[in-house]
Amino acid sequence: MGDTIFGKIVRREIPADIVYETDDVLAFRDLNPQAPVHVLFVPKRPIATLNDAAVPDAELLGKLLLAAADYAKREGFDKEGYRAVVNCNEHGGQTVFHLHVHLLAGRRLTWPPG
Ligand code: 5GP
Repeated sequence: MGDTIFGKIVRREIPADIVYETDDVLAFRDLNPQAPVHVLFVPKRPIATLNDAAVPDAELLGKLLLAAADYAKREGFDKEGYRAVVNCNEHGGQTVFHLHVHLLAGRRLTWPPG
């Protein structure tokens, strides 16, 4: 799997509204937000899809989720709640093949998703 737009954002080759960063994770606002808060958490080391993750990636995947939860606490919407989502392949609605967690917040989200 080749490079993606998110790889270019991680390497600062193209701009993004970056809101959170650790050694392993970068988070930036989605270009087409689906909620008042819509932030994408990406591992700096790319993994194409959740299908491509393996046991050696477990720590990195954990860090992605913990980064999203930490951001929610920092921004103060942890108590009212949010959704963290990974889309996988065509039926999951994945369009960028660099694994990412969508963090959606700021409104009451419906379930099930469309
Ligand atoms: P997916 O559909 O793969 O789960 O999510 C990809 C997300 O990336 C979409 O919500 C889309 O709006 C967002 N996106 C696509 N291209 C860009 C971009 O160049 N910059 C940013 N910030 N978001 C992007």
